[in-house]
Amino acid sequence: MAVKRRAAGTFERAPKAVIFDLDDTLYAYAPAHEAATAIVEAKAVGLLGVEREAFAEALARGRDATKDLLGQTASAHSRLLYFHRAIELLGMKSRPLTSLDLEQTYWRAFLANARLFPDVEDFIRDLRGAGIATAVLTDLTAQIQFRKLVYFGLEGAFDYVVTSEEAGADKPDNAPFRLVLDKLAVAPDAAWLIGDNPASDIEGARRLAIPALQRLPAGARIGEGDRAPDATFENFGELRELLGDLVGEAGPDERQDGD
Ligand SMILES: [Mg+2]
Repeated sequence: MAVKRRAAGTFERAPKAVIFDLDDTLYAYAPAHEAATAIVEAKAVGLLGVEREAFAEALARGRDATKDLLGQTASAHSRLLYFHRAIELLGMKSRPLTSLDLEQTYWRAFLANARLFPDVEDFIRDLRGAGIATAVLTDLTAQIQFRKLVYFGLEGAFDYVVTSEEAGADKPDNAPFRLVLDKLAVAPDAAWLIGDNPASDIEGARRLAIPALQRLPAGARIGEGDRAPDATFENFGELRELLGDLVGEAGPDERQDGD
């Protein structure tokens, strides 16, 4: 497979900077989240003396209530607030220590079950080798997003990191996109945005005319209308190939003298 360009004239030159979404772009979110949720539910049963189903239902309601209240902000994704609200919805009033315990348990289990997609590290190395700047642009609070990057061994892999906590709004708001472009000091059309989510990553990039690539694994839905990506790819090996073509990198065979 190769990167599929969907608009003529796009991705014909190497970018000056590449901006990556983090969750579900560089690693698979679902397996980590599901493992962490199962462990948290089991722990909550012991700590709170409730049935697993009752906790799960309160957690879903706590999550919805938090999101309704906070809208498109970093803290709307806070697991600490979800657990805090879930405990209150179970009629136990606020329990800060238990909320903190469940949050720590969740993220510890999450990280233990999170794996980078194949070729992510190689692609980032290719970019840096070609002198192309790199950044992460991610929703959620800086504390956990920084932890994820450190856990993945990506400390130092990116020139800049921008979280929606820092920018004041989640994607697709212009604020986080403007902030990362300012830090990188590049024009929108000299950057690429790589993400999985049409409603946040792709729409936000398109508003500022940043060429956008959607990671589109088999079965995933492609963005439409204002959320339509400029290109799609399935795996990071395809991006390595595209970049190799654009920077005119000599392969191992070409580097050697003919005879
Ligand atoms: Mg994502």
